[in-house]
Amino acid sequence: METAGYQYDVSTYLDRLYEIYREIDNEYNRAASYYDFSCNGCETNCCDTVFYHHTLIEYFAVLEGFDNLPEQSRMAAMERAKAYVKTLNRYRGKESLVRIMCPLNFNGLCGIYEHRPLICRIHGLPGLLKHPGKGTRSFSGCKRFETINRKERNMLIDRTPFYTQIATLEGQLRRAMEYLMKFNKTIAEMLIDRNLTGF
Ligand code: SF4
Repeated sequence: METAGYQYDVSTYLDRLYEIYREIDNEYNRAASYYDFSCNGCETNCCDTVFYHHTLIEYFAVLEGFDNLPEQSRMAAMERAKAYVKTLNRYRGKESLVRIMCPLNFNGLCGIYEHRPLICRIHGLPGLLKHPGKGTRSFSGCKRFETINRKERNMLIDRTPFYTQIATLEGQLRRAMEYLMKFNKTIAEMLIDRNLTGF
């Protein structure tokens, strides 16, 4: 895919990212089945938590998902993205105090499900991350998981290989594109940036 508005063909990088996503989904499903956990029937929705995403490669995946949406949904999402950022701007630095629905969530469902970023795939179940310098960090499950799950936390999703593989891919893409900036955006900010490429 040559992403509209971009001079660089990112399709081979995206193909690799989607392979990694499939591995993440397999791990998630294995753990979900162990805990007998599912999002079905959840009355809250983790898509209203503010998450920042840090990789260019996942940005391109979100854009690909967005570009596949029908025009009406894209327009609606773009309007919601603007409203999202207006609200978020009042909570910068204290994002945990605000809940704002992701502009790509339609009627409780992700509109870019196949292209959703890593954190959207992995949030919900307990996990760990081994950092060479900082040791091992653990993550609890989402609020609902922690409330209803009675099983021992014997199955932690090890995020390390996935973060490592995505970081490697990101490094390759950045070098190829000579992209030197930090990336730190919510989904809403990604969509608004997408619009800039129309110039
Ligand atoms: S991208 Fe999809 S899964 Fe992630 S927060 Fe938005 S609607 Fe939810």
